[in-house]
Amino acid sequence: MAPRPWPTARTEPRQIDWERAAAGPPFRFPAVEAATETVIDLLIMNEPAGTPEAQPTVLQSALRGLACKCPRCGEGKLYAGFLTLAPSCDRCGLDYAFIDAGDGPAIFIIMLAGAIVVGCALVVEVKYQPPYWLHAVLWLPLILATTLLPLRAMKSLLIALQFHHKAAPGRLVDRAK
Ligand SMILES: [Zn+2]
Repeated sequence: MAPRPWPTARTEPRQIDWERAAAGPPFRFPAVEAATETVIDLLIMNEPAGTPEAQPTVLQSALRGLACKCPRCGEGKLYAGFLTLAPSCDRCGLDYAFIDAGDGPAIFIIMLAGAIVVGCALVVEVKYQPPYWLHAVLWLPLILATTLLPLRAMKSLLIALQFHHKAAPGRLVDRAK
């Protein structure tokens, strides 16, 4: 059986706009973002394609979230800055006003980063008893890496899941009508 050819639209390597990345907010990691996008694109490509109007599965919605893309079309950009949302999707026009991730992303990041950093610090302290300055040198960069790197994807993931499950504050329904 002949190997399945790669879709032509996806074969060109992604171009990283270094100038724009350099001019952007201080905490951008273009290489990490490009690598993540490539992996997520591969995952999305391997998802069985549905009809355009078909409801996306939870996995498809989650992948759109991790890719920081519009939760409805999966094409448009979600962010205008590092964590600043665009007003609406530049592809399908979805108004992002409904989005309310609240403190959710920060809570998940705190839990994950806390477990990783505290776990590492405990192991190193118990095994080697290094001086305190070495703890600072080791864990401050790790704290920055484990909080700032996944923050965009985590916020976008929660937004995508909010959209998928149509989560919204409760409303009073007038039953008299
Ligand atoms: Zn869209």
